[in-house]
Amino acid sequence: MSNESLANLMTETRRFAPPAEVTAAANVTAAAYEAAAEDRLEYWAEQARRLSWEQEPTETLDWSNPPFAKWFADGRLNVAYNCVDRHVEAGNGDRVAIHFEGEPGDSRAITYAELQREVSQAAHALTELGVATGDRVAIYMPMIPEAVIAMLACARIGAPHSVVFGAFSADALATRIEDADARVVITSDGGYRRGAPSALKPAVDEALTRPGAARVRNVLVVRRTGQDVPWTEGRDLWWHETVGRQPEEHTPEAFDAEHPLFILYTSGTTGKPKGILHTTGGYLTQVAYTHHAVFDLKPETDVYWCTADIGWVTGHSYIVYGPLANGATEVLYEGTPNTPHNGRWWEIVEKYGVTLLYTAPTAIRTCMKWGDDVPAGFNLSSLRVLGSVGEPINPEAWVWYREHIGGGRTPVVDTWWQTETGAMMISPLPGVTLAKPGSAQTPLPGISATVVDDDGNEVANGSGGYLTLTEPWPSMLRTIWGDDQRFLDTYWSRFEGRYFAGDGAKKDADGDIWLLGRVDDVMLVSGHNISTTEVESALVSHPRIAEAAVVGATDPQTTQAICAFVILRGGAPQEEGLVEELRAHVSKELGPIAKPKRILAVDELPKTRSGKIMRRLLRDIAENRELGDVTTLTDPAVMDLIQSKLPSAPSED
Ligand code: ATP
Ligand code: MG
Repeated sequence: MSNESLANLMTETRRFAPPAEVTAAANVTAAAYEAAAEDRLEYWAEQARRLSWEQEPTETLDWSNPPFAKWFADGRLNVAYNCVDRHVEAGNGDRVAIHFEGEPGDSRAITYAELQREVSQAAHALTELGVATGDRVAIYMPMIPEAVIAMLACARIGAPHSVVFGAFSADALATRIEDADARVVITSDGGYRRGAPSALKPAVDEALTRPGAARVRNVLVVRRTGQDVPWTEGRDLWWHETVGRQPEEHTPEAFDAEHPLFILYTSGTTGKPKGILHTTGGYLTQVAYTHHAVFDLKPETDVYWCTADIGWVTGHSYIVYGPLANGATEVLYEGTPNTPHNGRWWEIVEKYGVTLLYTAPTAIRTCMKWGDDVPAGFNLSSLRVLGSVGEPINPEAWVWYREHIGGGRTPVVDTWWQTETGAMMISPLPGVTLAKPGSAQTPLPGISATVVDDDGNEVANGSGGYLTLTEPWPSMLRTIWGDDQRFLDTYWSRFEGRYFAGDGAKKDADGDIWLLGRVDDVMLVSGHNISTTEVESALVSHPRIAEAAVVGATDPQTTQAICAFVILRGGAPQEEGLVEELRAHVSKELGPIAKPKRILAVDELPKTRSGKIMRRLLRDIAENRELGDVTTLTDPAVMDLIQSKLPSAPSED
């Protein structure tokens, strides 16, 4: 990215100081940055002491064979014990761990003591099914408590899980079962989505007809919806029968800190998903620490809610392992934000008195589109910290989130991280940071990140380049499952001795980091590098635009031409002259070079289930090509909808 590239994001001048009451009682203060800078490894060793180890580690980091890291290698611990049992032993068995809210409105509160019993039973059941330490288990579930229980049961017996997002196809499930060679699959009859039961089990049955998945011995099925399910005798087992009859006590065994915890596939916005491997001690240390620091969690009084799906890394790290390791009380919601009405989320915040909320920019922009009056109809005064993850959050959405959800009071933390990093890496701290809407700002204490140019030299403040991580961190991926070479090639080959994340970023005059999206998405227009994020952000700053996705399409004159797909606010029909007005608006914000050549109003954008816009598919459309892999889309029908709007390619206005 060239230095003269456009800078509208960094000209955002609104600043928000942390509220005095948050600062006064903050879990982590500015001193943490100094302590970590003075002795990074000692800082992490100290954070590892948040966990209960059966054998305390004496070694923090073994980096003798980079980039294959070992953290806390001689320590031994059990992850499920840390997330469940120790809270019961500390006298907090009656604390609610999970407030489950089903989409139809059924609810269930699960205390830590109950969680301990159910995780213990599920662990016994897996052992009975022949799952031994090190064996892989596939989990294909809706957002119900048994999904969390299944993950913890696997962790308890040292069987790495591979959670496959519940809306993925039978093929996607089969590939992941095969890749991990899982012999047991945990699923449910179905779950509730958009007001109706939606079946899951048939996709499992279909997946298991594929040769690669034929070695699965058992399918454990949770009854959620009560719908009819096809059944294979001998292979299929009901959860309530098999788990329900097990003893409620189970002695957790400690495993090495580098024992594998899970395999999880990336969301696939840039290509074929990668099976990321995470291990135990370092991972749990960093997810627990960051959840404590970035949300300023007070486990006795806070009610935390992360709206992500457990099939995504945010669900692993910030629904299951981080919050539960910290003894938090959290909400788990099964359904969609607009069932039965557009205010469902805010109704849930009011009902449970949610204090800490973690969601994605796409959800925030969708709520903006639905209108300010929706959240205004609920009492959201319990909220005290708001988080964002998954994509760059444009300043307009950031400020809307703070104003309309956070009542103009709450800090907003924009957390940058990836499946590969396992835990948050760059984020403001709510009691410390003077917040800049649109910027993830500063690497967390103990994390080293920097922006470099093509040659790997750190760029000056005010310039852009590639975001790299310069020191190993506890929750880093250990490899790509079964493919060390792809691990080396993908992350460690671009810049000598550093991890390259694939994202572009800029440093502002203060050295704060602004994420610019994937380097693959950067456009080249008449010799200028232009980031899709910046043009999207400029479009969304226009009052008529709720969401925008921008791609560069091959163009004979300008190398690439900027094509924008926009969703209008309030869904009103497109008025005459709007396209011209939008082009003029972008030109004014960013300069004439960034003016989109084509702008097309659409009703929906193609998104992954983790809420990311699939720009590569829009590029296929803009370049009039056959669509690439759509299997990780929330709703592949969206592509037909968009294509139906354009007989061939987006028309030039
Ligand atoms: P794949 O690697 O298969 O293309 P993916 O990168 O979309 O999938 P994830 O690991 O879920 O899968 O997403 C991580 C990416 O999300 C980051 O690399 C970054 O591009 C984006 N991202 C996450 N959080 C933020 C944030 N706060 N600001 C900007 N970008 C973010
Ligand atoms: Mg990625």
